[in-house]
Amino acid sequence: MAAINLGQGVKAQCKVCGNFSPADQFKLHFQLKQMVCQGCYSGKTSFKGVKNDEVKKEPEEPPKPAGWDKEDDYLDRVARMRKEQSSGYFSRVAGSDLVKCNCPNCKYSYKYDPFKRMPQACPYCNGPVPRYRASDVA
Ligand SMILES: [Zn+2]
Ligand SMILES: [Zn+2]
Repeated sequence: MAAINLGQGVKAQCKVCGNFSPADQFKLHFQLKQMVCQGCYSGKTSFKGVKNDEVKKEPEEPPKPAGWDKEDDYLDRVARMRKEQSSGYFSRVAGSDLVKCNCPNCKYSYKYDPFKRMPQACPYCNGPVPRYRASDVA
């Protein structure tokens, strides 16, 4: 560690941010595994410029099943979104088999055919149609 004496106690250069700080304020950073200045230790200084391998990597996501791709990811997200959606998005249309759907995404309301399952997406925002159950229709 490079140290210079400025006449007011020994200052040392922080390898992370390059600033000189009083040497006695340096602390061992658990992520960087080296002595850093107080600013870096408390996270006030960004770690830009630090080599990636010096920063502990974030825990990786659990591995996806084989054959998993972006589309599966999207479908999974849509499926989960639909599961989370509660009822109350549909209402009857008098004298018609169609129902009115209130898009949970953009609040646009459009006619939905629960038998043909059309349209398959909100015509306004292209968001997924909420899961239709006859018992949900208000
Ligand atoms: Zn620093
Ligand atoms: Zn919409």
